[in-house]
Amino acid sequence: MLDLVLLALLFWLVWRKRAAPRRSAPRTGQASPRSVVTVRCQTCGLHLPRDEAVTGADGGWYCCREHAQEGRNATR
Ligand SMILES: [Zn+2]
Repeated sequence: MLDLVLLALLFWLVWRKRAAPRRSAPRTGQASPRSVVTVRCQTCGLHLPRDEAVTGADGGWYCCREHAQEGRNATR
């Protein structure tokens, strides 16, 4: 009777492994964030990590201070 349980458990583990999505690939060893938040430059539309982005006077995100100033001026 116990064999049946073990067998079922084994099948369940294999099935679970196959059914698991592939996106859970990143290694846990690295101290990298789970997901890098990217923002879009309001001036040139460049996507870049939020850590490297510059916040404009209007609260928008920019890739550099120059674009932050341009964006501020370009808003009419
Ligand atoms: Zn830009």
